[in-house]
Amino acid sequence: MDTRLPVHAAPAWHSLDAQQALDTLHSNPLGLAEGEIASRRQRYGANRLPPPRRRGPLLRLLLQFHNLLLYMMIAAAAVTALLGHWVDTAVILVVVLINALIGFIQEGKAEHALDAIRDMLSLHAMVLRDGERRKIPAEHLVPGDIVALVSGDKVPADLRLLKVKNFLVEEAALTGESLPVEKSIARSAADAVLGDRRCMAYSGTLVSSGQALGLVVATGPATELGRIGSLLQQVQPLTTPLLRQIDGFSRWLSVALLILALVTFALGTLWHGQDPAQTFMMVVALTVAAIPEGLPAIMTVVLALGVQRMARQNAIVRRLPAVETLGSVTLICSDKTGTLTRNEMTVRRLVCADRVIDVSGVGYAPAGGFHLAGAPLQIDRALLDIGRAALLCNDARLEEDAAGIWQLHGAPTEGALATLALKTGLCAQETQAELPRSDTIPFESEHRFMATLHHDHSGHGLIYLKGAPERLLEMCSQQRTADADQPLDADFWRRQVTDLAAHGLRLLAIASRPADAEQRSLSFADVQQGFTLLALFGIIDPPREEAIAAVAECRSAGIAVKMITGDHVETARAIGAQLGIGIGRPALTGAEIELLDERSLRELLPGIEVFARASPEHKLRLVQAMQAGGEVVAMTGDGVNDAPALKRADVGVAMGRKGTEAAKEAAEIVLTDDNFATIAGAVQEGRAIYDNLKKFILFVLPTNGGEALIVIAAILLQLNLPLTPAQVLWINMVTSITLALALAFEPSEQGLMTRPPRPPAEPLLTGFFVWRVLLVSLLMMAGALGLFSWELQHGNSLASARTMAVNTVVMCEMFYLLNSRHIFASVLNREGLLGNPKVLLAIAVCLALQLMFTYAPFMQQVFGSSALGGGEWLRVLLAGLLLFSVAELEKALIRRFHLHPHAGG
Ligand code: ATP
Repeated sequence: MDTRLPVHAAPAWHSLDAQQALDTLHSNPLGLAEGEIASRRQRYGANRLPPPRRRGPLLRLLLQFHNLLLYMMIAAAAVTALLGHWVDTAVILVVVLINALIGFIQEGKAEHALDAIRDMLSLHAMVLRDGERRKIPAEHLVPGDIVALVSGDKVPADLRLLKVKNFLVEEAALTGESLPVEKSIARSAADAVLGDRRCMAYSGTLVSSGQALGLVVATGPATELGRIGSLLQQVQPLTTPLLRQIDGFSRWLSVALLILALVTFALGTLWHGQDPAQTFMMVVALTVAAIPEGLPAIMTVVLALGVQRMARQNAIVRRLPAVETLGSVTLICSDKTGTLTRNEMTVRRLVCADRVIDVSGVGYAPAGGFHLAGAPLQIDRALLDIGRAALLCNDARLEEDAAGIWQLHGAPTEGALATLALKTGLCAQETQAELPRSDTIPFESEHRFMATLHHDHSGHGLIYLKGAPERLLEMCSQQRTADADQPLDADFWRRQVTDLAAHGLRLLAIASRPADAEQRSLSFADVQQGFTLLALFGIIDPPREEAIAAVAECRSAGIAVKMITGDHVETARAIGAQLGIGIGRPALTGAEIELLDERSLRELLPGIEVFARASPEHKLRLVQAMQAGGEVVAMTGDGVNDAPALKRADVGVAMGRKGTEAAKEAAEIVLTDDNFATIAGAVQEGRAIYDNLKKFILFVLPTNGGEALIVIAAILLQLNLPLTPAQVLWINMVTSITLALALAFEPSEQGLMTRPPRPPAEPLLTGFFVWRVLLVSLLMMAGALGLFSWELQHGNSLASARTMAVNTVVMCEMFYLLNSRHIFASVLNREGLLGNPKVLLAIAVCLALQLMFTYAPFMQQVFGSSALGGGEWLRVLLAGLLLFSVAELEKALIRRFHLHPHAGG
């Protein structure tokens, strides 16, 4: 281990000049040697912030008791103890404990699921080691590493900048300043505050434009971000608007019940003169019966499991409320390239000033040749010139792997050009060595071109320019033929552009001009004019098959799909037509959007599905206009400048592969496969999760309702208590750990994507909900109370009558669980009855527990239950069947008479 390396008393890096900083960390501009890394990692640790401080397990367990219901139950336990009902006291306490434990375990499970998802979004960094660039997990960075940054990156560690080019960083995460700060490499004063240290880039901030090279000076907890710490302490709350609603609802219910219980107690004892001890037990039974204690906890699990399922299907949810919003999305705006198309590009056609050449071969393998009017074409100088330009004005690299497959490192558009160049017989290394690159203006969606400056060995300078043809035509004054350069015939090129684009080809033009030998850097002023247009490339990028299906599926789900692309308008329309987007409708270009005011834009929008040559600002305007028109918009994006539109959209969707960190930060959802079909899948999953939450509430509330009604009826009719508090608690516990949990694993319903989106303002407890809960509660009460009285009337003991009541409630629950698998659809079919094995398992377990409750001597002692005979079980079964049939009948009526918009026909 190198003990000379600084660890504790870190120098003020911003006040050192670049060389001093390198020296202090024993590093150099080519990066550390690979052999050096291990010892540094050992010394400095991983470049990872300690996970946000969570509450310890003990505190989390204790917090489970911090709940109005449990306070009420503990109070009830105390009073039952005072009254000498020791068994009830013990049961209540055990149930309190078990409830807390279940909550604790479920919470842990939910958090675990979300942690695993968070880890899938780990950061990568482009590092220079042994003089070679490679992409590594940001966690593996050590002080002394040299890191390359480009726009859209998140700074992976604290860096002393060594080289910058138009490098702007947004440091809001650290300083609160939202405007990007321009960085330089000159050192700052030792006492400069964080925001003024221009030569530093701090971990967690975002590069908003330009490029830089920096020396890692601090990692993990030693970074400024790590030191502030507080920022990361914020754990994402495990909640969504729906869950908050439910939480509020159950709290409200608890208070209402407490008041109801007190009033009942007062009336019973003071007015009716009943025995306070007995009345108290009734009141306790009522309260524990009616409160849906497990509801919020299990709903959290439903949500977490759903989110985990989405992650498995390549959609990572960064902010939980998005899950609910997804279910109400009415419009999806998607990028084209890579999302709707395959992003596997091949140059098909080459248009020069004097000839149109067809290119054969597919994919990135440099196999294939050139044809002129169907006849093979010999490679000549002009073609080589074009190949050279395509290879040099290019950041992509092609590599043949051991299996002989050509792998692309870089952007597919550039990969296609590199392949074309290799098809002309050029060798990448040799060409790059002959004309080394001195400087670059990288491609950005805003300016739609890229330029590179090269010098040959005799010092001649050359600038290559490639980009969207419309842009390049503005910068060119000449065109090249096989023999000579001529004045530019812009009309000819425009015709060619329209022709290629109408075939759905993606277009790129390439041009060059000489530069001075002394010129070593490129600025925008150097690429304004004077170029010679070499050729036009027509590139195919076929649509994804699954995207075609997904677009159709969205349509049937009442969701409009629009395509917003940076590509040429004709290309966009042609590809759109293949995908079923914008057929027979006009397309709008970015330039046209700029001419429209807000109102006219909003009015035009409904008729337009394809937006071309649109840049990120246009996306923002489009989202705003669509939202103003009442749409709930999901919007995709990948570039740093897409962040505002992603933030503004109801659901921002970032591309996981080609997307920048800036876009991912701004998005609610990240697609790990960049695929449009995944968005449609996520919408479906979002709808399914919401559905499951609703099913869940519809299942749980009638249990509580039924029990409460039983007790209330007994109090009103001055009957013996049909369910003791201990028995009520038993029912609640058994059903919530078996039956209710099985619903959390319910697969999504068929036909989910044929109904319209849920109105975002739709309340949870609609009239229909209240009706269904009441209906089932009443049925349950009727069954249990009926059998309870029947048992007593036939001279059986109170114990066996109560056992009947308990078993009836649970049996009804088991049947109702089957009903609840579909809110409206019938379950009277194979899928409905047997479709979810977890439901069947839960019923089996529940049955076993009930048998234990009824027959085990220990249980009989604790719960006062007693054994039942065959006839009694038959009656219990009939009660369950009755509830099942009525519930199915109700659904059938709703479907038949279209009594609910989601019920179908
Ligand atoms: P999307 O459909 O996702 O918006 P896009 O690729 O169609 O993506 P941009 O990436 O903004 O949109 O590209 C717009 C245009 O810029 C392309 O049609 C092409 O002419 C040009 N272009 C794309 N990539 C490069 C590049 N690497 N270098 C130079 N020009 C490029």
